[in-house]
Amino acid sequence: MRECEQQERRRAMVASQMRARGIVDERVLARLESVPRHCFVPREYVDQAYEDSPLPIGEGQTISQPYMVACMTALLDLRDTDRVLEIGTGSGYHTAVLAGLCHEVVSIERNRGLGERARACLGQLHIRNVTLRCGDGSVGFEAKAPYDAILVAAGSPRVPPALPKQLAEGGRLVCPVGDRKKQTLLRIVKQGGEFITTTHTNCIFVPLVGEDGWHRLP
Ligand code: SAH
Repeated sequence: MRECEQQERRRAMVASQMRARGIVDERVLARLESVPRHCFVPREYVDQAYEDSPLPIGEGQTISQPYMVACMTALLDLRDTDRVLEIGTGSGYHTAVLAGLCHEVVSIERNRGLGERARACLGQLHIRNVTLRCGDGSVGFEAKAPYDAILVAAGSPRVPPALPKQLAEGGRLVCPVGDRKKQTLLRIVKQGGEFITTTHTNCIFVPLVGEDGWHRLP
């Protein structure tokens, strides 16, 4: 399929899956219209890259549903100068979306193979303001804290306690919290040294596996 057809599919995706469902942040919508999701999915799924669903990326993991990427990104309310921590790089698609909306992304993936594939995809797209690390992101990444925004892209039994502590003043944290089968998106804002939590949409993510997440895969 030619690039202009993929571009057309992206436009349709943003109109029908995002605008129609109430995502109004124009910066986020423009970024979703420009990042080639088809470059982040395995070859056999390229034709489905702009459909309204997660897709397998190998290792039992998935690339997130585009709507969920839009929703979470809008909740992060990013500025050009922000430094962002992402936990669960997966395919690198959401990393690429974030990278165009902020100054720097630090992204942690526990699965080395996925991390390497994400690195290759981001490199091909010349996205350079991303640092990828292999490891357990459930404890965050203290060395580069504080962050203006933290995104957890895997479902956790609770907000990993280390993460709010790594937020800058005014920082936003978005994390799916619940059981292994379904979660609710929580947003925590650090304001005046306090943490203000709001709950958002229901969602289904693969588990956050690590010291402060689930202790093992099902
Ligand atoms: N948003 C990504 C998909 C993330 S899927 C995309 O669009 O492609 C969740 C990812 O989190 C999986 O790749 C999984 O391996 C990773 N993960 C799970 N627990 C983790 C942990 N403790 N630290 C880092 N990565 C983790």
